[in-house]
Amino acid sequence: MKVAVIGNGIVGATTSYILSKNDNVAVTQFDSAKGQATSASAGIIAPWLSKRRNKKWYRLAREGAAFMNQLAHDTKMPSSVYREDGVVYSRKTENDIDDLLELGQERKVDATLMGQLQKLSPTMMQEKFPFTQISDWGLFVEGGATIDGQKFVAYLNQQTDFEQQYLNKTVSISNEKGRLSINGVAFDKVVLAVGAWLPQCLESIGWTVHVRPQKGQLIEVQLSDEKVDSLIGLPVLMPEGERDFIPTNKNTLIIGATHENDEGFDLSRSQVVMDDLLKSGQNLIPNLTEADIIGYRVGTRAYTNDFAPFFGELEDNSNIYVASGLGSSGLTTGPIIGQMLAKQVLGEDIEMSEYTNPVNNYIDKRG
Ligand SMILES: Cc1cc2nc3c(=O)[nH]c(=O)nc-3n(C[C@H](O)[C@H](O)[C@H](O)COP(=O)(O)OP(=O)(O)OC[C@H]3O[C@@H](n4cnc5c(N)ncnc54)[C@H](O)[C@@H]3O)c2cc1C
Repeated sequence: MKVAVIGNGIVGATTSYILSKNDNVAVTQFDSAKGQATSASAGIIAPWLSKRRNKKWYRLAREGAAFMNQLAHDTKMPSSVYREDGVVYSRKTENDIDDLLELGQERKVDATLMGQLQKLSPTMMQEKFPFTQISDWGLFVEGGATIDGQKFVAYLNQQTDFEQQYLNKTVSISNEKGRLSINGVAFDKVVLAVGAWLPQCLESIGWTVHVRPQKGQLIEVQLSDEKVDSLIGLPVLMPEGERDFIPTNKNTLIIGATHENDEGFDLSRSQVVMDDLLKSGQNLIPNLTEADIIGYRVGTRAYTNDFAPFFGELEDNSNIYVASGLGSSGLTTGPIIGQMLAKQVLGEDIEMSEYTNPVNNYIDKRG
């Protein structure tokens, strides 16, 4: 079976990796390299205490975190790609932390990956994060992890047996009389894992897609040696009312990310946003200055009207499979979505309805 996977973000990379393990499948991977969500992200995998009410999304995210963990272990992913150092939530009052702990204990019944939950007093918080001036109560969730999206894709690509790989090519799909082709080459099945670009990809073959781009920015800062011993092994800090703080190395930290719905596909760095991210950093880390910023990342996420992802085969059995709308939790849900798409392509009968609404809730056939 000749399969084309368009899009080499977290969904496409995982789909290709799984398909390539099947001897009967030849995988050709395309990517436009024009800026994507995965390569800009430095992400947190800890969905369990989310307040979102969407049960399908929660199930997908919970099982997605577990699948990501399994994939990381199966492929012996290094800690520069996937790290299990836990996450700490902070709240202003002890009551709020107790509520969060109670929710955690409920959710842990179906999510053993969460591991140990530990309530932290303001003194313990100060001891855990001495480079900050945090004085809130905290909750440590041992099973939280972080992933570097760009390194994840590069790592998985190395372990994927591609028939062909084009990582700098924008392609379009044509479907004439049931014959699927990309740039004139025929394929049996095509997976469109193109994130926020799905509307453009499906427009040419007569579909309208209800997905919009969302800009996300984050900064990386370097703390001077006087401020910090080592951040290695420290959990992610998710302080109430502030941005998230993600340790990346001995003395570097990511602060982010933003969710900007009106910027289209713009990938330029915005000074106003940089200042805002720095301000959030300064609220916790005294003396942090603009000179400490050593990098920034900008990416385009995809989001839908109900902020839920969708994935599966197009309703007309055209052998076209799609995934989009992963929003701000796509590092958590992307690998399991890639796995489900690969299973569908291989003809396995899997029940998607427990995880996602039908694809045609988000896509209309024109005419
Ligand atoms: C700043 C930031 C922080 C984030 N933080 C987190 C987090 O903490 N936790 C979390 O779970 N998620 C996080 N996310 C969200 C997550 O990164 C995304 O939801 C996820 O990476 C989306 O993956 P994808 O594979 O669907 O799309 P993408 O990564 O966007 O990949 C789609 C690919 O398709 C390619 N493409 C598009 N059109 C074509 C074409 N015609 N031909 C060829 N190639 C094409 C694009 O170039 C792109 O490489 C964050 C995102 C951002 C931007």
